Amino acid sequence: MRIGCPKEIKNREYRVGLTPESAKELVAHSHEVWIETGAGLGIGATDAEYTAAGSRIVDGPAPIFAECDMVVKVKEPQPDERAQLREGQILYTYLHLAPDPEQTADLVKSGTTCIAYETVTGPGGTLPLLKPMSQVAGRMSVHAGANALEKVHGGRGVLIGGVPGVLPANVVVIGGGVVGFNAAQMSAGMGGHTTILDRDPEVLERVGTFFESRAATRFSNEANLYDAVCQADLVIGAVLIPGAAAPKLVTREMLKDMKPGAVLVDVAIDQGGCFETSRPTTHDDPTYIVDEIVHYCVANMPGAVARTSTYALNNVTLPHALRIADMGWREAMRADPHLAQGLNVHAGAVTYPAVARELGYEV
Ligand code: NAD
Repeated sequence: MRIGCPKEIKNREYRVGLTPESAKELVAHSHEVWIETGAGLGIGATDAEYTAAGSRIVDGPAPIFAECDMVVKVKEPQPDERAQLREGQILYTYLHLAPDPEQTADLVKSGTTCIAYETVTGPGGTLPLLKPMSQVAGRMSVHAGANALEKVHGGRGVLIGGVPGVLPANVVVIGGGVVGFNAAQMSAGMGGHTTILDRDPEVLERVGTFFESRAATRFSNEANLYDAVCQADLVIGAVLIPGAAAPKLVTREMLKDMKPGAVLVDVAIDQGGCFETSRPTTHDDPTYIVDEIVHYCVANMPGAVARTSTYALNNVTLPHALRIADMGWREAMRADPHLAQGLNVHAGAVTYPAVARELGYEV
């Protein structure tokens, strides 16, 4: 199969669909790999590295969309890219179609077979192609919070781990799923006094067993949340209710009872945010202050660490890409029902029931 990887064109997207190492593995499976010139520069991967990996460098995205059997990307195709997709071609990338009727209509019209990373499942209903980005965001949330806690950024001027003779910061992580677990790992690792709140007893048991005395666990009800948030130097919002907007767990009213200069990092901002005063921010201008509380609400946190994020993503996307290329998408999906869950659009129809229902296509 001929596999192509164009340079990402979405604003401020530095990740790339295939690393040179992934390209090399596809080539080792006797596939041809075409990479748009400069596609890897955002992660520090040069054309020469891709060439050394056996791939061919092409000028611009046009040859890839015109002549490749499968296009591998990171972000959903932008209008210019959608116009170049072809019938019978495979598109393998994040799509997030449910809130995006325009993109969905274009993909349906294109006749392309579209496989979305975010709906490929794993054992136990997990979403393994989303997980690495939550891991990255969870770990980054503590860096972001530590930075915002510095006095020059409006914070309390508190060092997460303290120093001998001075207490560490109180770090409260709301939600003990993938983001929360990774945030707690970083916080505890830096010596922060770490508390994880969740509503799911199994999650509390799992994180409690893992962290033992390095982090406390607490059931997430209104009273416990209020108590924890008022004592916190840094609060990380990491909740998710699948398919729903994030619940507003910290109200504006509560801010006045928090320590002045405390920091709220709302990782759940991509689902509307779990703090009432959250609004999406960007890496260029990541924080703002409400009632003396610093807010960090960047909606695409992994984009800032494009290299780590790209490698983490490729670790989970490459095995499926190899199977699709080796077996063809139909056979690969027959062999792996989890991959089959990734099929969102095929031959002019929306094939993923939740997206079809949401956007009024025939199921
Ligand atoms: P997850 O499903 O693994 O974990 C969510 C946890 O929240 C679950 O353990 C659940 O029990 C808990 N929860 C639900 N309601 C709660 C409540 N009221 N109090 C306490 N805990 C509660 O989800 P995840 O992968 O950790 O993702 C968390 C959020 O982070 C999602 O909204 C996700 O989209 C977002 N995210 C954002 C970025 C970013 O760049 N901003 C990147 C990756 C993920």
